[in-house]
Amino acid sequence: MATPQNPGAHTVVIVGGGAAGIELATKLGKRHDLIVVLVDRDASHFWKPRLHELAAGLLGDGEEAVSYLAHGQAHGYRYEPGALKRIDVDARSIALDEVRMPVTNELILPPRSLRYDTLVLAFGSRVNDFGTPGVLEHCDMLDSPAQAVALRRKILALALRSAGDPGQRIRIGIVGAGATGVELAAELHHAFNDMHRYGGLKGTSKLDITLMDMAPRVLPAVDPRTSASAERILEGMGVDVRVGVGVDAVAPQAFHLSDGNVVPCDIRVWAAGITGHAMVEGLGPFQLSKDKRIVVDERLRAQGMPHVYAVGDCAFARLPHGGTVPPTAQAAHQQANYLARALPKAIRGETVAPFVYHSKGTLVSLGEFKATGELPPVVAKGGTPIPMRGLLAKVVYVSLQHMHRVALHGWTKANALWLADWLRDTTLPPVKLH
Ligand SMILES: Cc1cc2nc3c(=O)[nH]c(=O)nc-3n(C[C@H](O)[C@H](O)[C@H](O)COP(=O)(O)OP(=O)(O)OC[C@H]3O[C@@H](n4cnc5c(N)ncnc54)[C@H](O)[C@@H]3O)c2cc1C
Repeated sequence: MATPQNPGAHTVVIVGGGAAGIELATKLGKRHDLIVVLVDRDASHFWKPRLHELAAGLLGDGEEAVSYLAHGQAHGYRYEPGALKRIDVDARSIALDEVRMPVTNELILPPRSLRYDTLVLAFGSRVNDFGTPGVLEHCDMLDSPAQAVALRRKILALALRSAGDPGQRIRIGIVGAGATGVELAAELHHAFNDMHRYGGLKGTSKLDITLMDMAPRVLPAVDPRTSASAERILEGMGVDVRVGVGVDAVAPQAFHLSDGNVVPCDIRVWAAGITGHAMVEGLGPFQLSKDKRIVVDERLRAQGMPHVYAVGDCAFARLPHGGTVPPTAQAAHQQANYLARALPKAIRGETVAPFVYHSKGTLVSLGEFKATGELPPVVAKGGTPIPMRGLLAKVVYVSLQHMHRVALHGWTKANALWLADWLRDTTLPPVKLH
């Protein structure tokens, strides 16, 4: 869609400003031959891999949030608030829901439609409850900053209550021993350790964390040696790890397990994998995977739709030798980088090489100075992953966050933000107590 200031420019609309969408908008926004519009239902971006830090109180509200309006102004894209409702592929337009004030419900913007020349879908995924009874009613989830902050408030309330009652323990159950569940268990242990120094709060001496998964080991997607290392560290923290057992139902104060056991918990967190958003089914004529993600071809185009692309968790991209691109921030970053190069070429009608996913390994944070994980094998086929543990693994893990900041703000500002974090950590309480 050209404008009087920019005749002949091509409009790229990106829906979803998460790990993939905001990086793509930042890169494409620099180009003068494109008009870039970023749509998001929220007003600010929060990088999801830090949600467990927000939940554990190790990161304050808003500390990591990036306002789309301000970021767009600085990086040459326009922010359009609203949730995507429908796509009209023939008319090349999308319909957005109305926008209302969070507390008062006052109408801010009516439903609108936006025209595009090229559309990129990057609206992520949601936690999968697998239809388990009681999950939606009785569990907290870690899908958004609002959910993470709500969880933190419950945890803090429980810590304060138990400080006043010598008999009360703090029982937290986490379902899902993938990266999210493992990191949350470790960060909670770390946060309660820090709480110990504040008058009255009892720290880890009263904390009972149970981590459950139906898979036979924690971090089932990685090499068994990495799983074993993570499990040892968690058990060293006193986490009760129960693997190979499913959750049949969730009650107001407990998990009911498939082996007949009941795990009483004051706080119940569900982190057992992801699935596509339910709204995808009514969005348009897309080919969807079983878990409601948009099937894309090797150039990340929605099957049969040359002007519509999908990236990140909402995309179902097959790998050439079997399997699919994993729903990780690492993959979202690679897909955003690929489209930033490929889209301008495709728009000019040039030939574009297919997307190639390069696994850079898996790292899981296990507290302040510890992480565990692995780098991909040196020999692509038949080799075993290279283990990485301890402080070095933590440094590499933190560098992933740093690279996301570099992609959003450039090196100078990203380094300044790192320094600001360090200053904050040395001057403010290490755990947020409100
Ligand atoms: C707790 C946690 C820890 C994680 N840790 C790691 C890790 O250590 N390493 C790693 O590689 N990956 C990690 N991941 C996974 C990683 O965060 C995701 O794979 C990644 O964020 C996906 O990026 P995305 O851009 O596809 O979606 P998201 O980052 O989820 O962004 C989606 C965006 O779309 C917006 N949106 C959603 N629906 C609509 C709509 N209808 N209309 C408009 N906007 C919409 C949302 O507001 C959001 O801004 C973690 C995930 C979680 C939850």
